[in-house]
Order: sequence, then C-alpha cells, then structure tokens
Amino acid sequence: MTETFSYDDAGSLQIDRCPRCHGLWLDRGELQAIYDQIGEKRAAADTATPNDSLGIMVLSMVLLVLAILVILLVVFLTQSR
Ligand SMILES: [Zn+2]
Repeated sequence: MTETFSYDDAGSLQIDRCPRCHGLWLDRGELQAIYDQIGEKRAAADTATPNDSLGIMVLSMVLLVLAILVILLVVFLTQSR
C-alpha cells in the first residue's frame, strides 16, 4: 500500500511513497525527471548571480586608477630632477 506525494511545486511529478517506512517507488522516467529538475534549479541559481561582471568592472577601475597614479608619479619624478 502506497500513497503519492508531489515532488515539485507544480505537482507534475507524483511519486509513490510507503506511509509506514517512507520508502519511495520511482516509476519509469521519474528518477530522470528528478535529475532534470535539480539541473534546472542549479541553472536558475547560476544565472541569478550576475555579480561576476560587476566585480571585474570594479577591479578594472581600481587597476586604471593605479596606472594613472603610477604615470603621475613617474612624471613628477622626472620633472623634479
Ligand atoms: Zn514500507
């Protein structure tokens, strides 16, 4: 005797479960469907963090300011002689 529960929020994936020991019965294709849903959630989590481009932009700005400071220092030293 089993009961069914929804694995996903949409309820499209119904999995059989034993009410006594909570063992799961996966029908044909259900394990693959679980893998697919995990992959989709990971892909959504990856695209939800676009902070890498912002970090690269800040880093390039810092490097640009440092380069300008080095140029100003070289100009100052060559003119003071
Ligand atoms: Zn059982």
